[in-house]
Amino acid sequence: MMRRVDLMIVLMAIMTADLSRPEIVDDALIANIDNNAEWLTYGRNHNEQRFSPLDQINSENVKHLKLDWYLELPDASGLVATPLVADGVMYFVCSRNVARAVNATTGKLLWTYNPNHTPLPETRMRIAFLHGNRGMAMWGNKVFFATVDGRLIALDSRTGKHVWTKMTIAPSEALYITGAPKAFRGKVLIGNGGAEHGPSRGYVTAYDAETGKQAWRFYIVPGNPSHGFENAAMEMAAKTWTGEWWKFGGGGNVWHGMTYDPEFNVVYVGTGNGSPWNRKIRSPEGGDNLFLSSVLALDADTGAYRWHYQTTPGETWDFNSNMDIVLADLHIDGRDVKALLHAPKNGFFYVLDRRDGSLISAEPFVDVNWASHVDLETGRPVEMPGVRYIDGGPVEVTPGPPGGHNWSPMSFNPDHGLVYIPTVHETFSYSDEMIDVASWESPEWQTPVPKRGFGVDIKQVFPHGQASPGSLQAWDPVRQRQVWRIRLSVAWNPGTLTTGGDLVFQGTVDGNLRAYHAATGETLWRWNLGLGVSAPPITYAIDKTQYIALLVGWGSTPATSGGADNYKLGWRYGKHPRRLFAFSLQGSRAMPETFDPERPIPLDDPNFELDDELATLGGEVFGNCRMCHGGGAISGGGAPDLRASPMMLADAVLDAVVRKGTLIERGMPAFSNLSDLQMKALQHYIRKQARVALGLLEPTPVNVAVP
Ligand code: CA
Repeated sequence: MMRRVDLMIVLMAIMTADLSRPEIVDDALIANIDNNAEWLTYGRNHNEQRFSPLDQINSENVKHLKLDWYLELPDASGLVATPLVADGVMYFVCSRNVARAVNATTGKLLWTYNPNHTPLPETRMRIAFLHGNRGMAMWGNKVFFATVDGRLIALDSRTGKHVWTKMTIAPSEALYITGAPKAFRGKVLIGNGGAEHGPSRGYVTAYDAETGKQAWRFYIVPGNPSHGFENAAMEMAAKTWTGEWWKFGGGGNVWHGMTYDPEFNVVYVGTGNGSPWNRKIRSPEGGDNLFLSSVLALDADTGAYRWHYQTTPGETWDFNSNMDIVLADLHIDGRDVKALLHAPKNGFFYVLDRRDGSLISAEPFVDVNWASHVDLETGRPVEMPGVRYIDGGPVEVTPGPPGGHNWSPMSFNPDHGLVYIPTVHETFSYSDEMIDVASWESPEWQTPVPKRGFGVDIKQVFPHGQASPGSLQAWDPVRQRQVWRIRLSVAWNPGTLTTGGDLVFQGTVDGNLRAYHAATGETLWRWNLGLGVSAPPITYAIDKTQYIALLVGWGSTPATSGGADNYKLGWRYGKHPRRLFAFSLQGSRAMPETFDPERPIPLDDPNFELDDELATLGGEVFGNCRMCHGGGAISGGGAPDLRASPMMLADAVLDAVVRKGTLIERGMPAFSNLSDLQMKALQHYIRKQARVALGLLEPTPVNVAVP
């Protein structure tokens, strides 16, 4: 029987969630920091702090936090999105870019919008990112999200009915979208990713929220000068490039961090690494290569260049600056600062003055060996000798391509003055010794067998000499120092939420949601979710009840990039249910059933006669598979572990799945071009890896996949 208080809450929710008159979302509403109850942008409001002043749930009573409602998401796989909440309704994007709305007090499904058409995205790389959508934007009475194949879609937030679709990229371009759009001043901004997948020249485009008509576009790097420059900023940027960079696109793709600042009417975008990574190839005579790896401020109305701050001049390690951009008013050295906080891959925590982009301070928040420090006079990092693998390398660089911080968003608590950063502690070696730098070509995006093109060989260095591969860090941006740290067993951990209740929430890869004291890092609460988390939590309040909610669906880069570490977690692909959970102090729901962690056990066929040469060739073919199925065929749970798959032992099934694409709807691309020999080789490689895992054979070195 329902308790009286629960019944009252439900009745009040029904009365107040008036779905016939949706809230009109505008800048005043999004910028209003006293609008405690809602979560209106990727980072809650325009400052992107992921801080909510709500304090009903606090450090004293969080131990009583219980499950309030949940929703099963049976068609989902990897879930990494941040839900939005407005007017009693929660909006979110699931695997395969399926958008949903639910009643935020009950979890009752209100609408589903499936943007997928048949056939699915035409390139395999796009299929590989089908489970990586990070979220939505809201404006007026619409919600917006982008699909992996480059469509920006506007839906009526009340009904989920389609309003408009805009194709934001040319299908021939090596681009895809996993990021959340940004809405401000009647416009919706979206970028794209792809710097590793072909000649790629990044850009951001703003569209009219009502009509979808293009308002402005800003390219991040200059194109071929003989075609003329789009604007003076591109002309300025071109002076920092050498050679024929446009043949390689140059990169700079804006695939994640975008923040609108109503005080200066500016959008800040975090820009990507070079395409290819190796600067010797794309800009052989050197140069800073603007606007790679930068925070770029653009006029919100026109897209005109305002200022830039480049975190990694002449980027050559995949040190992009795509990470989230947080706005905060700080008091530093006796003065009030309109600050911009940014913790990009390169391992330095930056505090910029957002009036003009000038550097206030920068200190390493993880081990950093590529630069001794950032010179506050010049604003430039002081590089250590040899880090550019000038003589071919190899050279060991910390942090590596995953960065000291990646796209899992940080949060900032103004009450405590602390930033909570999911940090990565890894070292990689870089070498282009085996690469013909002078005649290197970008990978062909449309080729039947897609390749990733870095222009440099990388290997993770083990052991990395650091106490843990990942951590949650509380960082003081004024004093630029760590205040507390939680060591975590794997590198890639999800984003954080912080609240007025002196709390920090973070889901963990081991399948728990944890609450820490914001000041001390003391663990105050833990809830077993039954599956590893890849998405950040949010909070909101409806009718005097505060909720903490998150999507639970192990997958996307957090799952696929971890390899053997993630394998140990036991989140076997396709095994554990995907769900949306909401917690409250009044919660009384029992947890739905799930499965215990289960490591896939590799299969051996003793009758299989292993041919070592074929297995070696198969290892090369497997280069196409490892981005999802894991380096060394050790799956972290983002895709099936092929060593344990009976399919790999049955020729006809293998052919149907790999070459004919019978599982394309579930995200397995078709590799119709693979020859009979390559198919056979693949089988030998998988069998060999299975025998290695079973201790029947010696292991071979493992290459890891990085985002
Ligand atoms: Ca990259």
